[in-house]
Amino acid sequence: MFNLQKYCSNCGNEVILKFTEGRDRIVCEHCEIIHYTNPKIVTGALCVWDNKVLLCRRAIEPRKGYWNLPAGYLEDFEKAEDGAIRETWEEAGTEIEIEKVFTVYNLPQANQVYIHFLAKLKDGIVRNGEESIESGLFTEEEIPWKELAFTSSAFALRKFFEDRKTGIFNTHLGTFPEK
Ligand SMILES: [Zn+2]
Repeated sequence: MFNLQKYCSNCGNEVILKFTEGRDRIVCEHCEIIHYTNPKIVTGALCVWDNKVLLCRRAIEPRKGYWNLPAGYLEDFEKAEDGAIRETWEEAGTEIEIEKVFTVYNLPQANQVYIHFLAKLKDGIVRNGEESIESGLFTEEEIPWKELAFTSSAFALRKFFEDRKTGIFNTHLGTFPEK
């Protein structure tokens, strides 16, 4: 449940897990500090070029070798949309224009929230970034559904192709496990 820290960052004594303010929290009884923890935000982009979308094959664990929308942890002091632009550059060496928030996907068990933006590639050139084995543009028929790294990407892709049939791109809220 927790990425448990062992020692208090304030005094160096051992911390404990204690029911405090309505839930289990990491507490230092020595200096009476509550070490609050919060979910991580993962930010990414569903990038469109003509009738294709950008996928990157992960060069790092977890799910190395599987395909994913470019995404990664939001950095301190970074805007969510800037994180998506940065991650797309790092993974596919390509520039994008953000259009809108497309999916918000909760992973309470992993303590993460994904935000995927809908974006346009500025040109159709994709490269292999540092964190990907390869990058490519895929039509709906070409999407490697069984080789997708994460359900967050599958959710966004499914919603994209559903919305594209109507031409109206809504914002979608999802949670894993999906019912
Ligand atoms: Zn302490």
